[in-house]
Amino acid sequence: MLYRKAFNFNQRMLNLVLFGPPGAGKGTQSQKLIDKYGLIHLSTGDLLRSEISQGTELGLEAKKLMDNGILVPDSVVIGMISSKLDSNKNAKGFIFDGFPRTVAQAEALDTLLESKDAPISGMIALEVNDAELENRLLLRGKDSGRPDDANPEVIRKRIKEYNEKTAPVAGFYKGQNKFKSINGIGSVEEIFDAINEVISTYQVSPKVNQ
Ligand code: ADP
Repeated sequence: MLYRKAFNFNQRMLNLVLFGPPGAGKGTQSQKLIDKYGLIHLSTGDLLRSEISQGTELGLEAKKLMDNGILVPDSVVIGMISSKLDSNKNAKGFIFDGFPRTVAQAEALDTLLESKDAPISGMIALEVNDAELENRLLLRGKDSGRPDDANPEVIRKRIKEYNEKTAPVAGFYKGQNKFKSINGIGSVEEIFDAINEVISTYQVSPKVNQ
């Protein structure tokens, strides 16, 4: 029993949840983390936009909600994540970006990962104030082409959805002693260093965490 516990502590995979409001910089940092640790990036926002560009039924339904800054139903994103986990069985680990966004999604993710004996290593939150977020999203909207970045009302709705439905997800990981928050304002490199410092405290296999 003791041996099994000690063994479990040395996780095989680095499974990271990057957390923070829209515009906090999760996408930028994810890209750097993928390069450094060889992880698979699972962004539900990207997966949904890909459904939209392929014109699938799921994409058409999701678009109506996304263009208004409203979260899509839990069952839709959980299904997408589940199939991505299945199709990447030999991954070194995953970065979850924009997921889980509700407590129900966090619970479902735990169940999915339990069956793979590869739990979440930790959640890292990027802290950025609302005024800075609005500025960043409006700036990004100038060249991202994303309809939800172009309209100040939709941006405010997204931040409101975040505060109401997503912020409680931090409590879920705090309850598991897996939550760390860092300052999301600063240079990309400074923030990346702070994230790496947190990762270095995780007890994952040295093959992954190098
Ligand atoms: P951002 O974090 O900048 O808002 P995303 O690309 O993560 O951008 O998400 C864009 C939109 O996609 C969200 O406003 C929401 O409508 C939808 N979405 C993305 N991920 C989820 C999720 N896990 N649950 C529900 N809706 C989601």
